[in-house]
Amino acid sequence: MRICRFNDNRLGLVEGEQVRDVTAALNVLPSYRYPLPQFDPLVAHLPEVMHQIALLAPTAQALPLSQITLLSPIANPGKIVAAPVNYINHLNEAREQAEIHHNNRVAAIQEVGLFLKANSALVGPSAGVELKHPNRRNDHEAELVVVIGKAGRDIPRSRALEYVAGYAVGLDMTTRGPEERSLRKSIDSYAVMGPWLVTADEVPDPSNIAFRLTVNGEPRQQANTCDLIIDVPGLIAFASSFYTLHPGDLLFTGTPEGVGPVVPGDQIDCSFDGIGAITVKVRAAVETEMRDKL
Ligand code: MN
Repeated sequence: MRICRFNDNRLGLVEGEQVRDVTAALNVLPSYRYPLPQFDPLVAHLPEVMHQIALLAPTAQALPLSQITLLSPIANPGKIVAAPVNYINHLNEAREQAEIHHNNRVAAIQEVGLFLKANSALVGPSAGVELKHPNRRNDHEAELVVVIGKAGRDIPRSRALEYVAGYAVGLDMTTRGPEERSLRKSIDSYAVMGPWLVTADEVPDPSNIAFRLTVNGEPRQQANTCDLIIDVPGLIAFASSFYTLHPGDLLFTGTPEGVGPVVPGDQIDCSFDGIGAITVKVRAAVETEMRDKL
């Protein structure tokens, strides 16, 4: 299934060029009282939701995909885990280009490990990316996003794919500079995810997905997840050897070579075979009163 969240928090089933409004499927979710769970309720109950979607879809209202606003398909991830320098050619370009490494030593992923992006950075493709520091270099990073489906710690590599709910297209937007990754990559709107969740049953092998990214139609990144240094099962095993993964946790798997800057007015297009395509517009952030006070 291809499940999207759209317009005013509607739930959609994507079928070709149309989307069925199956929002009523969310009625199977339990209601929670404070404190809220540390997982995404929809993903935690995905089998029941999918069952309801299948029942509702034949008679659900259909809308053209071209006319809806796409939100991040996962609304409440407990955490956003991300893999740095996870393609060998990107490791090489990062080591060669001062504008990327900023005199930080670029270590291999086995050494540097994983990092976290703030949940508040997460947006869907229709929201666009808002450059907070447009005078600095802001790069696109096309990445396969894995959505964790069930809780697990110390998940063995051999069973890792059992813990996947599905996949999506992601942009790990990045302000270049000397600060920690988690700061530079956590700006509002710097974690783009979409266009929908493709459930794991439709993606037999996450280690063989071709993808590409263009800016204003100009090719920038083109690669295949078969070139990941640590593949999807390996990343799940690695992450869960440090912390428990929960339903709805997101895993940005790393970007290949070809990262480059975007500026206000640019349009990013990114597509992953068998998953989908996102179009993301780039704008400058409006200066805020708070910023003036800093
Ligand atoms: Mn990245």
